[in-house]
Amino acid sequence: MTFPFDALSACRAELEEEASINDAQGTFPADGLRRVRELGGLSAVLPATLGGYGFGEGCQGAIGLLHLLRLTGEGNLSLGRIVEGHVNAIRLIACYGTPEQFARAAADIHDGALFGVWVTQGAAPVRMEQTGDSIILRGEKVFASGVRHITRALITASTADDATRMILVPLDTEHNAAPCLDGITGMRGAGAGRYDFTGTMVLSDALIGQSGDYLRQPEFSAGAWRGMAVALGGLDRLVTLLREQLCARNRAENPSQQARIGTALIAAETARLWTCKAALIAAGTDDHEAGDVAATVNLARLAVERAGLEVIELAQRGLGLSAFVKTNVVERLIRDLSTYLRQPAPDETLLEAAEWFTRRNLPQMERI
Ligand SMILES: Cc1cc2nc3c(=O)[nH]c(=O)nc-3n(C[C@H](O)[C@H](O)[C@H](O)COP(=O)(O)OP(=O)(O)OC[C@H]3O[C@@H](n4cnc5c(N)ncnc54)[C@H](O)[C@@H]3O)c2cc1C
Repeated sequence: MTFPFDALSACRAELEEEASINDAQGTFPADGLRRVRELGGLSAVLPATLGGYGFGEGCQGAIGLLHLLRLTGEGNLSLGRIVEGHVNAIRLIACYGTPEQFARAAADIHDGALFGVWVTQGAAPVRMEQTGDSIILRGEKVFASGVRHITRALITASTADDATRMILVPLDTEHNAAPCLDGITGMRGAGAGRYDFTGTMVLSDALIGQSGDYLRQPEFSAGAWRGMAVALGGLDRLVTLLREQLCARNRAENPSQQARIGTALIAAETARLWTCKAALIAAGTDDHEAGDVAATVNLARLAVERAGLEVIELAQRGLGLSAFVKTNVVERLIRDLSTYLRQPAPDETLLEAAEWFTRRNLPQMERI
């Protein structure tokens, strides 16, 4: 069975329209999510034996997942963020959970559950206290995507001795969710907000993996390739809009605009090649050292960020003020992409990767 990529491609315009309509009020992309779910996008990462497309395994699976996330991001970056968070949670459960926990997660997905990974700490970081089989949580998560819509949140929590544990918390009510991030300029549809876990009780079988697994390399850094795949979709769309709008205004043939189009295409292709490299090395089939995998994906993350920032500048300079007019989809897309590109700790990411590869070569991938 093959994933219906043609159907997903065909609904990109629908996803984009919903993103534009939802922008003003920061409304969650419920229709787009339903569409992706109907196409099998939310279960695609599961193995075929559990009703998925095997996008969580091997090079073939990684390329399939890249394509799925890229197309979703091309339609709506906020929706892409939600789907990417869902996939991230499933991946962590597959890596560190028990077979029973993974099978339960798969069953929940088929029953309509939406997963997310919430790790960003607020003023009161989440702490856990275990007594026998019960765990009581205290503290909050911020910048939590889909805060009113996620039904299974994989969160990190600190123990009394400051170890980090992952806990899968079923969220049947939204009473602890604060409204979407007020005043954020882009990615308004991702429904990112604050969730207060204080007083939430879970049983010990909600613990995923062991202490320290969340930060274990290479998975901790390597997982970032999936976020890049979503950003790549937004970047692709911006390049397409730049070309289309220059043509529509009979400005595309101007040599300076031609130079912008060429430069934007180089940036988009550079981002695609780095994302492919990151996806393939993260798939782990070539037996690279964990440090090589993490540092390669870290460099790829920054290459995609740089490409995105370059295309944003080219679109704004090439289209001029029309790129700043609210009725132009480019205006919203640039806000979404600029916000999406703000990933954690970019300085540290570059320095760590540079240090790793100062005295060893960057791995070469046969398939690229
Ligand atoms: C729409 C949206 C959805 C999100 N969804 C989720 C989600 O579902 N789950 C989740 O966990 N998170 C989520 N996040 C949070 C996200 O993953 C990042 O944590 C966040 O975007 C990073 O923000 P930042 O730019 O402030 O990062 P920072 O890491 O604070 O970086 C800002 C700058 O400060 C520098 N810097 C970092 N640390 C230091 C330091 N100690 N000293 C000096 N400089 C420093 C960095 O290099 C960078 O230049 C979301 C964010 C957004 C915008």
